[in-house]
Amino acid sequence: MNKEYDVVIIGGGPAGMTAAIYAKRAALSTLVIEKQPFCGGQVLNTYEVDNYPGFPGIDGFSLSDKFHSHAKKLEAEFKTGEMKELRDEGATKVVVLKKGEEIRAKAVVLAMGAVHKKAGVDGEEDMAGRGVSYCATCDGAFFRNKTVAVIGGGDVALEDAIFLARACKKVYVIHRRDEFRGAKILQQKLFSLDNVVVLWDSVVDKIKGDDIVNGIDVRNVKTGAVKDLEVDGVFVAIGTRPDTKVLEGVVELDPAGYIVAGEDGITNVPGIFCGGDCRTKKLRQIVTSASDGANCIFSLEAYLNTME
Ligand code: NAP
Repeated sequence: MNKEYDVVIIGGGPAGMTAAIYAKRAALSTLVIEKQPFCGGQVLNTYEVDNYPGFPGIDGFSLSDKFHSHAKKLEAEFKTGEMKELRDEGATKVVVLKKGEEIRAKAVVLAMGAVHKKAGVDGEEDMAGRGVSYCATCDGAFFRNKTVAVIGGGDVALEDAIFLARACKKVYVIHRRDEFRGAKILQQKLFSLDNVVVLWDSVVDKIKGDDIVNGIDVRNVKTGAVKDLEVDGVFVAIGTRPDTKVLEGVVELDPAGYIVAGEDGITNVPGIFCGGDCRTKKLRQIVTSASDGANCIFSLEAYLNTME
């Protein structure tokens, strides 16, 4: 029979890495499963992180690298794979990977983060990868001296627009309301940029193009007026959703798919804990994900003590 770990952690973002660090410090045998090597979660694609204490302005890659290096220094094990099933066999939990491998553990921490939401706009799917992107830091370089649109009004949309404005000729920010949700400091920066145009109360009805994007139809939701804008790229930054389909029927999920757990990371299934962006919570930040990772292991240790 395969080795049984004390804890298997699903996800290599800030919650997963913090859980790995705390688990190793608690002398637990620990395996982290990541979809890709050095997965890192959403932080990895963040151009600049300015609100994680101690690292003002650090780029997302470097911060992820620090998290990973720390967990590796403490000798957490890592494996690349995607969970397709989680089986609760009481004292043992079995994580089944897409390639069929089964990994056994006394407890599991679900820290699988969230994935980008689609706007559901006409043309979005057809043009994905042909001018439609969900990651400005990944794809922004393709749009040097071009005109792009960013859809959304949260932190990510504002950060993306600021990042793109460095290299693009013009950046439209298209937001469905007349007020941004994103941090005030990002709003101030955005409003100071000459090549950024904000279209308030506006939604994109259609993304157009033959082989590649060449325009969008933007509708003002208050007046109903539709504008045809020439753009070379569209960055969709309208938030994230948890990717928890494989957990349906295993742990309790809320209607939006988030894993139901309190700050202690305790789910409705003994021995299964959860933290980070996939958990029901109000504030999804790197620092709150890190906090979740620590809390999960605190609760997990108490659980393992009851099993002895
Ligand atoms: P978010 O905060 O949920 O913002 C999503 C934005 O997209 C909102 O402005 C929303 O409009 C808009 N939106 C949602 N659905 C839409 C649709 N179907 N069509 C058009 N617009 C739509 O998401 P996020 O910006 O991805 O950020 C996710 C979380 O990560 C947040 O908690 C954020 O604070 C955090 N974050 C933190 C940092 C940081 O601290 N440095 C950086 C990035 C992200 P409404 O405003 O009208 O709802």
